Amino acid sequence: MKVIELRNVTKTYSTGVQALTNINLKIEKEDFVFLVGPSGAGKSTFIKLILKEEELSDGSILINGQDVTKLSKRKVPYHRRNIGIVFQDFRLLPNKTVYENVAFAMEIIEASSKEIRRQVPMVLGMVGLSDKATSYPHQLSGGERQRVSIARAIVNNPAILIADEPTGNLDPETAWEIMKVLKQINRRGTTVLMATHAKDIVDVMQQRVIALEKGRVVRDQQRGAYGYEG
Ligand code: ADP
Ligand code: ADP
Repeated sequence: MKVIELRNVTKTYSTGVQALTNINLKIEKEDFVFLVGPSGAGKSTFIKLILKEEELSDGSILINGQDVTKLSKRKVPYHRRNIGIVFQDFRLLPNKTVYENVAFAMEIIEASSKEIRRQVPMVLGMVGLSDKATSYPHQLSGGERQRVSIARAIVNNPAILIADEPTGNLDPETAWEIMKVLKQINRRGTTVLMATHAKDIVDVMQQRVIALEKGRVVRDQQRGAYGYEG
């Protein structure tokens, strides 16, 4: 099943910069995709278009078969619920515990207390943080913080998990722990799209690699490598 499909997608910013040019691609439910390419290649723009944080200039984007370019403003929040996102800098709420940070993502969508009490411990277990539920972010290591942010991203069962440089602030060993968690989430049926400059990780993982350069897809390999010097 196609979870993400881009048809002739072009994005030109108001400055005249064409960040993406005629992109066509399909991402399947079981895919784990590395999005690679030099700085300025269009990776962030690609992610923003999928999240509908930016409007595209031409073409269409389908998420689970639905054309999101046609969504009314009112429906955009529902679209975003289908996508979890993890950032390089974690973006946790400092005054909330691990449990509360994850629960908050469910409170925003008005999940019931019962669902929250069931779901939060479950995802904390999945990321290996059951024993840190009452800790605050400043009491955690970088790897633990990133695992909280992953738990928060998946707690509402999104179809897609987008990770934007998720290992960028982590040492290599911790980065690998995060990759194991992401791969496990992918195995459980969530499509993972990860923008990264982590050559070692991409080379070892042997997953699909989509390479962007100057706004175009220059490579799309099923079991690809990073393809640039680290
Ligand atoms: P990457 O994430 O691969 O570094 P970006 O998507 O951030 O690439 O940028 C692609 C191109 O679009 C670059 O030339 C960048 O300067 C330009 N760009 C990105 N965001 C904006 C914006 N908000 N307004 C104008 N130009 C932008
Ligand atoms: P309610 O739905 O009535 O708010 P909850 O059990 O969801 O009750 O939560 C009550 C408070 O206790 C919240 O601040 C929540 O973050 C916290 N909490 C609940 N379960 C845990 C847990 N296992 N570990 C840490 N904090 C928890």
